[in-house]
Amino acid sequence: MKIRDILKAKRFVFSLEVFPPKPDTDIRVIYDTIEQLKEIDPDFISVTFGAGGSTRGRTVEIADKLTNYFKIPALAHLTCIGATYGSIMSILKEFKSKGVENIMALRGDMPAGEKEPLKDFKYAADLVRFIRKSGHDFSIGVACYPEKHPEASSHDADLEHLKGKVDAGADFVTTQLFLENNHFLKFRDRMEKAGIKMPLLAGIMTATKLVNLERMADMCGVEIPERFRKATSSCDINALVCEDTVKYTVGQINHLIANGVKGIHLYTMNKVEQNRRIYEESKLRQARQANVH
Ligand code: FAD
Repeated sequence: MKIRDILKAKRFVFSLEVFPPKPDTDIRVIYDTIEQLKEIDPDFISVTFGAGGSTRGRTVEIADKLTNYFKIPALAHLTCIGATYGSIMSILKEFKSKGVENIMALRGDMPAGEKEPLKDFKYAADLVRFIRKSGHDFSIGVACYPEKHPEASSHDADLEHLKGKVDAGADFVTTQLFLENNHFLKFRDRMEKAGIKMPLLAGIMTATKLVNLERMADMCGVEIPERFRKATSSCDINALVCEDTVKYTVGQINHLIANGVKGIHLYTMNKVEQNRRIYEESKLRQARQANVH
């Protein structure tokens, strides 16, 4: 099923993200994770694409399994930095042949020391345009950054570039993780003022250890509020669930729901228990039950 149709049919959408296990890890590990995450009945599951295409085969395989075995709509991430038109066309054909109908179109991070794109694509907008002209009808998502993409010169410039992706043919927008809802709410206002009318899904990440999130937040320019640091400080490093960060993330989600968010996309980090607790203890279930336009 195409995500643009799910977004049209539902007032509120709930989705999950998983990443492919390392090549030397048995792929069945992720199928076991999905089997358990399936119990919370997400509207779709996205599968990340490793930097430089390093998980290409596994991303295709997992998206295929989601679609044809688990019967959950799959959103396959695809990065274009370093890719050729030919390599992108070939993976689009693979996705199509397996019935995968949704692509998250991304540029990918610049390899360290590089300033210029390596091959045929410069920005994610180029990939969106290419997919639209490919002759394959995918529903396309793109990324956005409430706290600004680190390479962008200003919030306005970043928003202008987001508009470029939307004008190129995107169907929906998912945010980078954020831990302070004000960043999201201000960004949503700026998007509206700029006339960008797109379903906006809030990307939410939890953590059982600060160190896991700190590296990512640093790289992406994401603020870590003191309250979040405090919450993680109580976490037992070996525990599957951290009570204080469950509470923090539940609070964040409930506040977003109260503020009319279109969707919550949980970056699960392939962790079942922590995310299941967040689902059960937040107002996600109620928001989905009240799901009429
Ligand atoms: P773009 O939209 O191309 O933007 C990149 C930068 O270029 C921004 O600073 C933008 O402002 C600027 N820009 C855009 N257009 C122009 C223009 N015309 N002129 C000048 N500047 C311009 N990475 C992975 O490797 N695999 C994944 O699976 C993955 N999934 C992600 C999912 C989400 C929801 C998010 C938010 C990010 C994800 N990323 C992933 C990370 C992403 O690849 C990086 O953030 C990357 O640095 C930017 O990708 P983008 O698609 O936003 O790029």
